[in-house]
Amino acid sequence: MEYSVRILGGGNEVGRAGIEIANSNESVILDYGVNFNQKDEPNFPLQEIPSKVKGFIVSHAHLDHIGALPIYQISSTKPVFGTGITKYITELMLKDFIKLSGPKIPFEWVEVKKTMDNFKTFNYGEELEVGSFAISTSSAGHIPGSAITVVKTEKGDISYTGDINVTMAKLVKPAEIEVMRKSKVIITEATYGKFNHPSRKSVEDEFFSSVMEVLEGGGTVLVPAFSLSRSQEILSIFAERNIPYPVYYDGLSRTIMEIMIDNSQYINNKEALKKAYDEFTYVKGWEDRRKAWRTNGVIVASAGMLKGGPAVYYFKKVSDNSKNAIFLVSYQAENTPGRKLLEMGKFDDTSPLLKARLQMFDFSSHAGKNQLLDIVKTSESLEKLIVVHASPDSAQAFSEYVKQNLGVEVLVPKNGQEITI
Ligand SMILES: [Zn+2]
Ligand SMILES: [Zn+2]
Repeated sequence: MEYSVRILGGGNEVGRAGIEIANSNESVILDYGVNFNQKDEPNFPLQEIPSKVKGFIVSHAHLDHIGALPIYQISSTKPVFGTGITKYITELMLKDFIKLSGPKIPFEWVEVKKTMDNFKTFNYGEELEVGSFAISTSSAGHIPGSAITVVKTEKGDISYTGDINVTMAKLVKPAEIEVMRKSKVIITEATYGKFNHPSRKSVEDEFFSSVMEVLEGGGTVLVPAFSLSRSQEILSIFAERNIPYPVYYDGLSRTIMEIMIDNSQYINNKEALKKAYDEFTYVKGWEDRRKAWRTNGVIVASAGMLKGGPAVYYFKKVSDNSKNAIFLVSYQAENTPGRKLLEMGKFDDTSPLLKARLQMFDFSSHAGKNQLLDIVKTSESLEKLIVVHASPDSAQAFSEYVKQNLGVEVLVPKNGQEITI
């Protein structure tokens, strides 16, 4: 039987992941997410006729991998498979998506509810059946519950990394990449296909000592961080190192932290996370919020690129005092206030120059260039590498790098492209 891989989304772009693995009769879709254009309008992946699709496997609960799932529950009913923790966080993220972008999206709460009703959970290592496809999974080390997916076909294994990381973090251990050993085809992300990350230990040490410097000088440190995973990672670092100053956190991160504690089998350093939950102060309302920025302490708040959320309020309060600091801990996309701060020291074109100290720390949860190559090398029988979830220049750079190092065919498909296996 002939098999094909069709790129529904995430071809030459980051986000709106959607990969269809099909034979002549049926298909399974790996991830079905969303990304946003310059005007902040959602872009969804291409669609397949519903009768062909037997189900969805989701790699993890970031919106760029799950945000389009409810579309397939409008006029049909499709099973969605993911790990237990991915299920709980998916529900939260989809609800939040409707709250923030409601009028711009083609589904409502009813379809989200249907998605959750049809969500079936799996454990890593368990064999799954979706239509006629046999599937196995293992941890992808990206965020708690993230999974590598291996689709077994008569033509050999087709593996999909999802978002993947092999760094030892507080929340997750490195990906278990052994599962891809027999892959004939690997579909990999290459978000950081051009760069290597510094060692996590050195980033953490520098981050913590910088935070302490500001605190000892009497200032307040604002850490804008995405509420899923990055916030809990940063809070766990503070807990593990017994930070001697107050720590506040604000946004959706509290609920997500509770889900993580309830599903602690997915968490690497459970004690640090629990300690952060017990000892740090969750901001419950305006009174706490006003107190937080006046305190000689740390505030961890969403959004990570200062595009909205409570972090923007805190930014306005702390940014004009040179005793304070803004420490960015994630990638800052173009046209976001975070990127503008790094490039010109201003929140936007009309705002005053920043007086607070600004610094960026690489806490990436995506494998860097050499790590990605090592991941690909796990396979003993690789023939084809398909690069997705990367900007055009990252995808191109990584594809060249693999070609120089391994004798395999490397493809950087566009959305809509179909690759025969
Ligand atoms: Zn992603
Ligand atoms: Zn992700």
